[in-house]
Amino acid sequence: MDDLDAVNAGNEQLKARMAAVQQSRICPQCGATLRTFGPGTDPTSLSEVGLKCPRCSWGMVTTWCPPMLRDQTTYTVTMGCDPRPTRATLRLLMRQLHIGVLDARTRIQQGDVVILEGRAVDVYRHRPKLDATGCHYTITPEFNYSPDGAPLSD
Ligand SMILES: [Zn+2]
Repeated sequence: MDDLDAVNAGNEQLKARMAAVQQSRICPQCGATLRTFGPGTDPTSLSEVGLKCPRCSWGMVTTWCPPMLRDQTTYTVTMGCDPRPTRATLRLLMRQLHIGVLDARTRIQQGDVVILEGRAVDVYRHRPKLDATGCHYTITPEFNYSPDGAPLSD
């Protein structure tokens, strides 16, 4: 083992070895304490993560794939019918659906409006904008990610 071992996601043996080293934090080559690097904080992008020995340059690197990126589910975001939509709500509708203000107002007053269909990362990126409007919206199926992108377990 020298230099950096590229661990691809499908290689269970390497993953297990990395997990063991990760737990001990001891360089398998010289016994020094390993330094970690990564993971990135953006749950919507791949980031490098791994361990590196400060003494002998032994190291491991893997591409960390956030659960959100592995999520193949298609989510639907629906804005709830609102007889008196706020300007923020209308602005969001206009931007999402590429429609004018009159159209936006009519549609949200008449019923629920689907504003987004996409992967978990798309929903994640849009959620702060949705929350900012204060409007009522639903995501189907249930969107089980916390604001920092970590999967929620119940
Ligand atoms: Zn070392």
